[in-house]
Amino acid sequence: MKRIILCAFALVACILGIQAQTQVIAHRGFWKTEGSAQNSITALEKAAEAQLYGSEFDVLMTVDGKLVVNHDNKIEEMVIPETPYKKLKKLRIKNGEKLPTLKNYLKKGKKLDIQLILEAKPLPTKEMEDQAIANIVKMVKKMGLENQVEYISFSLNMCEQLAKLTPASEIAYLNGDIAPAELKKKGINGIDYHKGVLLNKHPEWIKEAHDLGMKVNVWTVNKESEMKQLIDMKVDFITTDQPLEVKELLK
Ligand code: MG
Repeated sequence: MKRIILCAFALVACILGIQAQTQVIAHRGFWKTEGSAQNSITALEKAAEAQLYGSEFDVLMTVDGKLVVNHDNKIEEMVIPETPYKKLKKLRIKNGEKLPTLKNYLKKGKKLDIQLILEAKPLPTKEMEDQAIANIVKMVKKMGLENQVEYISFSLNMCEQLAKLTPASEIAYLNGDIAPAELKKKGINGIDYHKGVLLNKHPEWIKEAHDLGMKVNVWTVNKESEMKQLIDMKVDFITTDQPLEVKELLK
């Protein structure tokens, strides 16, 4: 519902020639909160309680094809893409929660009013990356979450696979080294670049993306001066560990 309202607003804004206001995305959930931890289900709930646009989280695939939510490739000395899920399923993350599976994470997300910003982490081979994207898209469709899940990845291959399998979704590339027009040709409809890329190296990419109808997200913005600069530069989304500070500046 939130997405439909935002789309309608974006359409009106487009007709009137004005840009929608910057929106806030919690980086790895709103984890700087009581009882929370990065990429925990609690951090997702806290992000929704804070009434943010979205909550970002990282997805990796085990060697036997199970999707789990974790940032680092390794957990307790085990390399996730080289380990079968049965060895990981009893592990706990920092706040005591079980290592979340993508399925459980999405189940919780479905009950909340927040966009789910799914980062597909690069994997050791193209075959594994293709399999992970196929499994992710299948799960998202099966759960009826196509409008609530948006995708980001550092892997150009994973972005291209997403563009093939779910072309109507929001898909943004993270690696900061490709101009928006080049991505658009591949069916990738957003950039989500490091703040240094958009503040210093290629500020012109914001307008280039907008002129092509692409969204602009920027990470990870935790300094107030940079939040202000990027709001003035009219980025669509700021991804941050300090979501309440950005919200305050937008008031
Ligand atoms: Mg991430």
